Amino acid sequence: MSRPGSIGTQPGPERELLTTDLPGAPQQALAELMAGNRRFVTDTLRHPNQNAGRRAAVAAEQHPFAVIVGCSDSRLAAEIIFDRGLGDLFVVRTAGHTIGPEVLGSVEYAVSVLRTPLVVVLGHDSCGAVQAARAALATGTSPGGHLRAVVDAVVPSLRRAQAAGVDELDQIVDIHIAQTVTAMLDSSTTLAAEVAAGRCAVVGMSYRLAAGEVRAVAAEPADLAAIAAPAA
Ligand SMILES: [Zn+2]
Repeated sequence: MSRPGSIGTQPGPERELLTTDLPGAPQQALAELMAGNRRFVTDTLRHPNQNAGRRAAVAAEQHPFAVIVGCSDSRLAAEIIFDRGLGDLFVVRTAGHTIGPEVLGSVEYAVSVLRTPLVVVLGHDSCGAVQAARAALATGTSPGGHLRAVVDAVVPSLRRAQAAGVDELDQIVDIHIAQTVTAMLDSSTTLAAEVAAGRCAVVGMSYRLAAGEVRAVAAEPADLAAIAAPAA
């Protein structure tokens, strides 16, 4: 398949998604992410905004249309799985998408200064951080060093899963993703205010390593989840 218009001047969603001041920006941003993921799943990548023209165009300033708070897992590279390029995604990644002050500060910078209209929490099946936390909880031991902070941050999600009678790892992962969305909104009054004003949305997505597909497992406002439903 040819790639018409891919040399420097191709129209991209960034033109319409510059700031949260535009009506419908969270919905448009989510739809754009899902379109890119579908291209990735179906092996019809366009590699938008990855050339020298784009590099020059965004050198002076950035207007990313989505924040990705994702797991650090090496198979979860944001620009690849959403088929985007330079200046499109503001990416913060930690093991198990655990959130501390620096993560929340980075999200607040994107949302309030760059006026990015969408925040995505991105987890995945077979997550090692969730597995490590589950092992620590089962054995009553904690890993040494700073890894303990990662495990400790996942444990509340495990307890929530236990209370719900959920024992399957990938279902626990989905609970952890939804819990991260809730925790971000509870911990950041800046983010919560942007969401309440309709200028931003937060969506929790679960990624399947083998299929390459994302699907929504949580959203605020809730009606956005329909945009991130799996492709038919
Ligand atoms: Zn992971």
